[in-house]
Amino acid sequence: MKITLISALTAAKQQIDRLDARLLLQYATGCTHADLLARPETPVSVPAYERFADWVVRRAAGEPLAYLVGEAEFRSRVFQVSPDVLIPRPETELLIELALERLRGLDAPKVLDLGTGSGIVAISLALECPLATVVAVDLSKPAISVARNNAGRLGARVDFRQGDWFAPVAGERFDLVVANPPYVADGDPHLLRDGLPFEPRIALTDGADGLTCIRRIVANAPAHLKPGGWLLFEHGHDQGETSRNLLTAAAFKAATTFPDLAGSDRVSSAYF
Ligand code: GLN
Repeated sequence: MKITLISALTAAKQQIDRLDARLLLQYATGCTHADLLARPETPVSVPAYERFADWVVRRAAGEPLAYLVGEAEFRSRVFQVSPDVLIPRPETELLIELALERLRGLDAPKVLDLGTGSGIVAISLALECPLATVVAVDLSKPAISVARNNAGRLGARVDFRQGDWFAPVAGERFDLVVANPPYVADGDPHLLRDGLPFEPRIALTDGADGLTCIRRIVANAPAHLKPGGWLLFEHGHDQGETSRNLLTAAAFKAATTFPDLAGSDRVSSAYF
């Protein structure tokens, strides 16, 4: 039996979400949405169909679409992702918006992104604030290589360094330190849902109460901030108050928490 775009799509829709089915078919065959609508009877080659069928089975088993196709969009840019890095989340846009606000008006700001992963934060800031010098750190060597590749493809100048939080920037001070650290508490049922089991555990949880990395970042940031420099980090919906308390106890000023588009506390900021 000849397989066509429409027959492949119809069968897949029985097993996975319809939008996922369409996107996977487009990635597998190279056809566009318009092709699918205008020429649904176009035959699908055997290798393309095999790739698609494999993806549908894996998607049905919960593997995130971004890992199957190897890319994901963030702020209208396409980033390559692998299971070595977290998949970009829309709520992280808030971190970027708040960072850009704080960089506005600064002459040649120095920015540090901690736990850069695929590099979305560092690369977005480097591209959207071209006067900034951006350093990005990650503990994971494979993550650094994904991030470097993304910066190269997107034409962003970022100085990537491998190491533990502030270790690779000993003695350096910044105008802004940003981080999207692992903040999910160990045992949070969320870790078992929505494709999270496929993501790097080290990027999601500290294996403890979810605040270990935030505590370390808050404690060590003052030694790496210029006078008046800002610290901004993403956190869990129930970690706003604790984050502000940690910031205030570490002598930061104006500790404030901001909600994401879903209305959940998501980013806290303060200056030193
Ligand atoms: N926001 C992510 C989630 O809950 C977690 C990201 C992180 O730990 N940095 O899926």
